[in-house]
Amino acid sequence: MAFAQALPRSLSPSRLQDFQACPRRYQYGAVERRERPASYAATKGRFVHAVFEKLLDAEAEQRSADLAYSLIPDAGRRVLDDKVRAELALDADAEARLNSEVRAIVDTYLVMEDPRLVTHEGVELRLNATIEQTPLFGILDRLDRDANGDLVIVDYKTGSLPRRDYESSSFANTELYAALCEEKLGERPRRIRLMYVAQGESLERSVTEVVTRARVGAAAGAWRKIRGYFDAGQFPARPSPSGCRFCDFSNICPDAAVTVSAH
Ligand code: SF4
Repeated sequence: MAFAQALPRSLSPSRLQDFQACPRRYQYGAVERRERPASYAATKGRFVHAVFEKLLDAEAEQRSADLAYSLIPDAGRRVLDDKVRAELALDADAEARLNSEVRAIVDTYLVMEDPRLVTHEGVELRLNATIEQTPLFGILDRLDRDANGDLVIVDYKTGSLPRRDYESSSFANTELYAALCEEKLGERPRRIRLMYVAQGESLERSVTEVVTRARVGAAAGAWRKIRGYFDAGQFPARPSPSGCRFCDFSNICPDAAVTVSAH
């Protein structure tokens, strides 16, 4: 059975993660473009990112704490549209809690760094390039230029710090961003900084050619499989209790390894 939709034009790190977790999840999200229901955690993440985007987009000397706090209401209006409110069943109490949690994250962030001292090459930077015949696309939260003149990829995380044995997978997306930067800008970022802004801690890792090559190789292998499954008209399911439990499509997937109620 052929798909009614065209093959996606590019592969982003998050859709690559979907594919690697379960090809059927990629089919539902990237090929069939089924909507993902809003979740409280993802909405809070978008809310925080919206505040930081505007804050770091301002001129360096204007990036004060007052400006950061003043950006919260407008970011909330942009992120909490009617659809999101309905899906989250967001009443006044829940919205007040969400606002105060975002405010607390902004407080924590302002302890982690002084945004007035940040020098960057861009925020919410959209990059695309075809590498090893694989069309890649990504949006970087921020690309800094550090005091040594080196590029540093900065990624904000609003979830919990990973366990030590999961740290490598936390860097996977950003290491693919590093390959995109190198291809598009002609310069490989020197480091990646994951800022866990809810907890006030960062994880940092150097970027090496070996790592970016490995990430591109994995993406290219996945893209070849995606094309094959697309041509075949179906992506196989790879159910697992832990994967299906957090899958946005478990309510429509006949192979889900969990019993779920409709979202
Ligand atoms: S519910 Fe499980 S098997 Fe189905 S798409 Fe999601 S992860 Fe894959």
